[in-house]
Amino acid sequence: MIEVISISLENEMDLVLAHKRSMKVAEKLGLTVATQTTFATAVSDVSRTVIEYTDNGSLVIGLIQNKTRYALIALVSFESETKLTAKEEGFFYAQKLVPEFELTTTNGISVVQMQMGLPRSLKLDPVKIGELRKYFKEQEPLNPYEEIKRRNLNLHKIAEEQELEIRQSKVIDEKKTEFISVASHEIKTPMTILKAYTQMAKATKEPLSDHLRGVLDKIDQQSNKLITLVQQLLDISRMENGNLQYSKNTVSFNNFITEQLTVMRHILPYHEVFSELGDDVDVLIDTLRLEQVFSNLLGNAAKYSSRQTAIRLTTKIEADGYVLVAITDEGKGISGENLQSIFNKFYREKDVLTTHAGLGMGLYITSKIVTDHGGRIWAESSAGEGSTFYFTLPPVKA
Ligand code: ADP
Repeated sequence: MIEVISISLENEMDLVLAHKRSMKVAEKLGLTVATQTTFATAVSDVSRTVIEYTDNGSLVIGLIQNKTRYALIALVSFESETKLTAKEEGFFYAQKLVPEFELTTTNGISVVQMQMGLPRSLKLDPVKIGELRKYFKEQEPLNPYEEIKRRNLNLHKIAEEQELEIRQSKVIDEKKTEFISVASHEIKTPMTILKAYTQMAKATKEPLSDHLRGVLDKIDQQSNKLITLVQQLLDISRMENGNLQYSKNTVSFNNFITEQLTVMRHILPYHEVFSELGDDVDVLIDTLRLEQVFSNLLGNAAKYSSRQTAIRLTTKIEADGYVLVAITDEGKGISGENLQSIFNKFYREKDVLTTHAGLGMGLYITSKIVTDHGGRIWAESSAGEGSTFYFTLPPVKA
C-alpha cells in the first residue's frame, strides 16, 4: 500500500479530520463529488464506531495497485475489549457505501479495510501519486487541534530518537569505562613493580654515584606520578560502576590534618605550607580517601602557582557543627565561568592544557569523595589572583 495520509482516532475532533482528509484525497484524485462524499461518509462511519469503543484507533488512506489499475483504500485499525462485528451500525452502513469491505481480527488487532477501484481515466502513475503524497505532507493543519496533534507527534518522535541516542551513548560509555578499568589494571601492575625495584636500588648498600642516585630519584618521582594517574583512572571507573567503597573510622580531624601536612610538606618542597587549625572535631572518614582529597587540593595549589609562593590551610567549625577546610594559594587563579566546570570529569582550563601535565580527574574524584562523606566542596577565585578551595565535613554525632 502506498500511504497518503494517516490519522490517529482518539476523539470526535479526529472524526472531523478523518472526514475532511478523506474528502480531500478523493478530490485530489479527481473523483466526482458524489464519489468523494460516498468514500468520506464510509470512512467517517467506521471511524465514529471505532472512536465510540476505543481510544487507540488509527486510519490510513492510500492506494494499492492491482495489475494496471489502482484502488483507493482506507484501513481503520484498533484494539478493542468489546468484540466488534460487521453488524455494528457504523460498519453496516459503510458496507453499503463502498464496493469492498472487510473486517478481520488477528492477535487482538482488528482492521476494517474499505476499497474502491479507481477508473483508468484518472491516468494515475507513480509521478502523480508522488505529487499527491507530497501535497498531503505539506498540507497546513486543518485546525488548531490538528496543529497541536502534529506537534505532539513530532515531540514524540524527537523523544523517541533522543531515547535511542541516550541508550546508544550509554553502551559506548559502559564500554569506555570497562576499557579504562582493564587498561589501568594492566598498567598498574608493572608500574608498582618498577617502583619497588627503584626503591630497592636506592636502598642498596653498594656505593652509588650522585648522578645515579639522582636518576633513581627521578624514576621514583615519575613512577609516583604515573601510579597516581592510573589510580585516578581506576577510581573513575569504580565511580561509574558505583563501586567506590569506603571504610570509615572516627578520627580526630586535627590529628588527621597534622599528619597530612607533615607528608605534604615533604612532597611539596618548593612551597611553604602554612596552617591554622580551629577547634578539633571528631569526623567519620575513610582516611585513605580523605588523604586523596588533601593531596589533590594541596597538590593543585602547588602545581598551579609559582615556586616559593605560600599555600595556606585553615579549618574552623561552622555554626551547624560542620568543619570547614580552606586551602588558599597565590597562583594563576581560575576565571569565573570555569569555577563550576573544574569539578567535572576530565575538565581542564584551556590555558593549562599545554603548560601543566594532568588529565582533569583529580577534582572530579575529590568532589565525589567529599560529597560521599556528606560534605560540600566549592572554589572561589579570580584569574591571576590565586584560588581558595573549600570543603566541609559533618561532625560525628555525639
Ligand atoms: P588536573 O590538575 O589533572 O588538570 P583537576 O581535576 O585536579 O585536574 O583540576 C581541573 C582543572 O581545574 C585544572 O586543569 C585547572 O585548570 C583547574 N585548577 C584546579 N586547581 C587549581 C588551582 N589551585 N589553581 C588554578 N587552577 C586550578
